[in-house]
Amino acid sequence: MREAPPLLVFTDLDGTLLNDAYRFAGAEAALARLAQKQIPLVLATSKTRAELTTLSAQLPGVPGLIFENGAGITCPGPGGPQTTLFGPGYAALLAILKDLGPAAAPFEGFAALGASRVEALTGLAPSAVTLAMAREASEPGLFHGNEEALARFRAALAPHGLRAVHGGRFLHVMPERDKVDGLRTLANLLAPGAPTLALGDGENDRAMLEAATFAVVMPRKDGTRLALKRTEGVTIAPAPGPDGWGPAVLAQLGALPQTRPN
Ligand SMILES: [Mg+2]
Repeated sequence: MREAPPLLVFTDLDGTLLNDAYRFAGAEAALARLAQKQIPLVLATSKTRAELTTLSAQLPGVPGLIFENGAGITCPGPGGPQTTLFGPGYAALLAILKDLGPAAAPFEGFAALGASRVEALTGLAPSAVTLAMAREASEPGLFHGNEEALARFRAALAPHGLRAVHGGRFLHVMPERDKVDGLRTLANLLAPGAPTLALGDGENDRAMLEAATFAVVMPRKDGTRLALKRTEGVTIAPAPGPDGWGPAVLAQLGALPQTRPN
């Protein structure tokens, strides 16, 4: 039987493993060590599955994906990777939003915005916009309303098993799922009982960072960072993005109990 990996790593992408240029420069040495130790690296992101195809092919040992903030996961299966989508699915989600009437009026999702406005809002290249708009289970968008309007919107979504969460500049309408649900599913599948390490910088990483065996909080470029409830097993990366991700992961690997050489 194959030996269980000494650690499972779950990482956010934007502001965590990736810099503004969508590159992971600075993290290469740590990525190489993970590969050498056969430690699985799971990507946990608000991005779509389509957006992850190129990236995951560049990274060693990516056995699973947690995409659209946990609304979908891809796990290794007997016949190859298996994807599970949660909630009503994208087309049904759009139909629900349409049927909500006035409560949903302040929400302008990607589908309503259209490619050219999503391009202007995100600064992504047209080809990247296509991938970002290849939604499967959640809808990001703008919310043109105050806190009261947002509370009304959330109350209207709840009976449909949907919630609205802030992530970056967008509000994401999605099923009652979180990255941490994906972490639990994949950890159980890949190596039950193995310690987990989560890395992230955003509100949508909070539950994952609170639940993992070890957590690395990534500082943001504006100098702020998430404050967790837990203190044990938490480290703060020395810099935002891959420049901080690399040293933080290497430090974590150095702190693992040494295993017998094969
Ligand atoms: Mg992030």
